[in-house]
Amino acid sequence: MEISRARLKENFRAVQSAAGAGVEVLAVVKANGYGHDAAICAMALVEAKARWLGVSDVEEGARVREQLGESVTRLLVMCGMEQGDASAMVQHGLTPVVWTVEHVAAMERAARASGQRAKVHLEIDTGMSRQGTQVGEELAAVVERLSASRWVHCEGVMSHLSSAEVAWSKITENQRENFERGIAQVRSAGIEPELLHLGNSSAVDEGSTMGWVRETAKQIGAKAMVRTGLAVYGMCLPVEGPNGKTKKGSLAVKLKPALTWKTHVTGVREIAKGTTVGYGATFTAQRKMRIALVPVGYADGFRREASSGIGDGWVMIAGKKARVVGRVSMNLTTVDVTGIDGVHVGSEVVLLGEGVCAEDHAQWAGTIAYDILCGVKGKFVSRG
Ligand SMILES: *Cc1c(COP(=O)(O)O)cnc(C)c1O
Repeated sequence: MEISRARLKENFRAVQSAAGAGVEVLAVVKANGYGHDAAICAMALVEAKARWLGVSDVEEGARVREQLGESVTRLLVMCGMEQGDASAMVQHGLTPVVWTVEHVAAMERAARASGQRAKVHLEIDTGMSRQGTQVGEELAAVVERLSASRWVHCEGVMSHLSSAEVAWSKITENQRENFERGIAQVRSAGIEPELLHLGNSSAVDEGSTMGWVRETAKQIGAKAMVRTGLAVYGMCLPVEGPNGKTKKGSLAVKLKPALTWKTHVTGVREIAKGTTVGYGATFTAQRKMRIALVPVGYADGFRREASSGIGDGWVMIAGKKARVVGRVSMNLTTVDVTGIDGVHVGSEVVLLGEGVCAEDHAQWAGTIAYDILCGVKGKFVSRG
């Protein structure tokens, strides 16, 4: 798994310029950098002058913090906290996303014990029904606790969009209105956040909320931020138009995948017409064929749905498509190299890269590129 640091940096800069001047870009390295190795990605992104990174949890945050050494990069812990996490948050200089009175109380205790004020970002649930506090009574209780706290500072107010890839979505509009009400409620309790953030990669790529976030932030003397993951790794979901048609967004066209996933051919054989291939003998050669053995399977994240007759996936060998024949096994896959000259043991096989992208894998497997990237496994090599 070759990670191109140059591409990570170029993608990060493309996101910055699409987000617009004055908008902070938090690069999400959660889930081990979407399967790209959080340590490699964090270092590259900090070199590209990322001031904020997003991690999954306190353990990942502590690892990234250690990797970054003296760097003052801020780390936002995006996927919640448990009571027992608070002291490690403070110890490792992590900024948690909080949304309950208990979260604030735990951070209060940890901050007081360490003698340092802790910064937190408050998440408002505007329509995901996942993390975040609901506008109204629930938010009032959290805000009251926060404004009474000497040790916990509410630095940011955030929410998350459910349908950012849908152009001018009614759902997004509704979430935006809820967020507006939430912000007003937070401010009426005397809390003035310095950062406001709502959007992910698709929000930047689709673009319809960006002007609003910038304007709202400006009105309250805050800075707008976006939290982008997938775009940094080099892609975005297709933007869904009102007519149900999808297209590449204006950011997506500027991105390039940072990951190349490769292996080598470990065997080549000729099979006669009528020979079956793989588990279940689901494939029968209709003619004499040459097939290559590739030492990758579903245990490595090469999805079983790439099997012939299901997703009809392929790999790239010598710049040509070699289609999967039969079923993908746990650690092995067979591909058709009948029409590709010179394939031998040791020939390079591209599983993700030029000619085969994460969206292709997602299509075969009936899922999204996020799922594919998080699932692929291999030895990481960092390239300039
Ligand atoms: C993962 C995540 C993001 C990043 O989403 P992308 O679509 O990869 O840009 C942003 N915000 C939250 C809350 C997330 O969990």
